[in-house]
This record gives sequence, structure tokens and C-alpha cells, in this order.
Amino acid sequence: MAYSIPSDKEVEKALRYVMRRVKGVDSLRKLRKLVIRELQNNDPDYTVGIDRLRKLAVTAPFIKVEIYARKGKKKKSLKGKCPVCGNKLEKTRNETIFGGSVTLGYKCKECPYWTTLKRRIPVRYYFEHKLEE
Ligand SMILES: [Zn+2]
Repeated sequence: MAYSIPSDKEVEKALRYVMRRVKGVDSLRKLRKLVIRELQNNDPDYTVGIDRLRKLAVTAPFIKVEIYARKGKKKKSLKGKCPVCGNKLEKTRNETIFGGSVTLGYKCKECPYWTTLKRRIPVRYYFEHKLEE
């Protein structure tokens, strides 16, 4: 079976169309199925990987995302990238009474993912259509 890879623009267009129609989808897997069906109206060989679709969906301006997570082990610090969209994580801090600050956790600048030092591991997503400003 041959596969073709659609451009980001094409995936986004399909995503927009699907979200406008269904309003809400309670899993990434379901969303992928709907988007692929939509893409295949243009090219029956089109497909999109689940990681790629997740990254596009969580940063799309017309989608509101809820991230459900389970707790992982507590770590002193978290290095690296957002597990949802792959962008940089930013420290969230709290001022202490001694004039310093402590790291409470991290949040992503590009998507709604956040975590405390007890790492939140994303397990499920809810995607909701959002009107663009
Ligand atoms: Zn992110």
C-alpha cells in the first residue's frame, strides 16, 4: 500500500473541517481517524502520524485542548521538551519569603500542558472546537 504525506496546511485544513463538524472529540485516536477520512477525500493515499497530528492539533488556534494526565515519579527537575507538542518548557516559580524563588513545575508556552515536579504524564486528550478571535 502506498502512502502520501499531506502538508501541514492540508492537515490543518482537514482538522478545521472536522472540528467544525463534530465540535468535540474525546480521543486523539478518534480525531486521527476523522482527519484521515477527511484528507482521503483529496488523496486516497493520504495519512498522518499520530505524533504529528497531536502537535498540530494542540497548537491550532481553533482548538481548545484538555490534557488528562496521570502522575509520574517526582523529580528534582525536568529537562527537555513538552511531551505533548515538543516545544520548550518554561519553569513556573514561586517567590519565597526569603526573597528567592522555588521551582514549582513547568508549563509549555505553545500548548496547555503543565506539570508540577511530580511529572504529569499525558494519557488522554479532549479536543473542542473553538471560535477563532
Ligand atoms: Zn506543549
